[in-house]
Amino acid sequence: MKIISINAGSSSLKFSLFNMDNESVIASGVFERIGIDGSCYTIKFNGEKYKEEVPLKTHADAVNILLDKLTSMHIIESLDEIGGVGHRIVQGKDLFDKSVLVDDEVMEKLESIKHFAPLHNPANMLGIEAFRKALPNVPMSVVFDTAFHQTMDEETYLYAVPYEWYEKYGIRKYGAHGTSHRYITETVKDLLKTDKFKLISCHIGNGGSITAIKDGKCVDTSMGFTPLAGIMMGTRSGDVDPSIIPPVMEAENKTIDDIINDLNKNSGVLGLSGISSDMRDIEDAYNEGNPRAVLTFNKYVQRIVDYIAQYYVRLGGADVIAFTAGVGENSPILRKLVCEKLACLEVKLDEEKNNVRGKLTKISADDSKVAVYVIPTDEELMIARDTLELIK
Ligand code: ADP
Repeated sequence: MKIISINAGSSSLKFSLFNMDNESVIASGVFERIGIDGSCYTIKFNGEKYKEEVPLKTHADAVNILLDKLTSMHIIESLDEIGGVGHRIVQGKDLFDKSVLVDDEVMEKLESIKHFAPLHNPANMLGIEAFRKALPNVPMSVVFDTAFHQTMDEETYLYAVPYEWYEKYGIRKYGAHGTSHRYITETVKDLLKTDKFKLISCHIGNGGSITAIKDGKCVDTSMGFTPLAGIMMGTRSGDVDPSIIPPVMEAENKTIDDIINDLNKNSGVLGLSGISSDMRDIEDAYNEGNPRAVLTFNKYVQRIVDYIAQYYVRLGGADVIAFTAGVGENSPILRKLVCEKLACLEVKLDEEKNNVRGKLTKISADDSKVAVYVIPTDEELMIARDTLELIK
């Protein structure tokens, strides 16, 4: 069966078309600048990349062009070949603890929680609505970034703030990157051939989160009410004391929204280094001895170590530490520095094996107490797998 995974953002729509008989990608691509001048699409198929500028006023335009291109480029011969469409949703709150098939009731529930992720959920929903119009008879699923974290217990997901904030406004930890952490969990299950293990999954990309997993279930995760919490990220601060907000607001004559924007977009690696949000640039500057890059890289490492150490204790040990996403998969130096700081837990890397990028590899030494892996994540495949499972 062929299944499309969709990740719709406010001005973009990414897709991957899978042949689920062997889980291979038939074609993938992105529609960009939807609703903005200079909109275009890129489609990768048969080892070639096709790019074209086209007017894209709405997400529906992107979906219609996508479906047209799938047949006119002979990626598929007929739209009837599409057995299902899976949609990524950023926030499912506590209404969704797993992926579900889309129906009117699900759309109503999504409508009721969309203000919890105002930049993401409404955009995700535009993608669903466009596909429901274009392919009304094809089953569709929604796959939530938060669902995997719904197994956290109350002590973990509640903040130490007035309880009424939770009751009245839903203020609690929801986490994110759940689809990626679940993919890592499934992969470790296959590797170890058991589902009884303690795993610390480190998704270190532009955004980053660390999750503690026991016997396949999330115990705790570093992101919070929103993805702003936890480790230091490309442009996000991670955990800070909220009392830093008023003095900066006053001194710079900024609103609370301005400051939240600064914490999301102008902080983290970018803010501290003043160089870039991209770890490749920081690594280069670090290697040249640039003091701000050294400070930034060291703090970045430290924040990851802080969470791994916390979760090691929370889980009562760890069988596996897994590194994934852009930085986690591609930065041997980051993994080396993190694991060196975990030496007291008898974590030991094999330097040669660690010299790997973007490939499933066990990188720990044979005498390491914890197995350390690089596991390339695949959220799109996870969405397609869930969709297939639900259709079955
Ligand atoms: P997103 O959170 O946007 O999905 P990714 O997981 O794709 O992010 O990660 C993107 C980040 O990965 C880049 O910003 C860059 O910092 C980092 N990255 C990519 N390749 C490398 C590399 N070879 N070395 C270090 N960092 C890398």
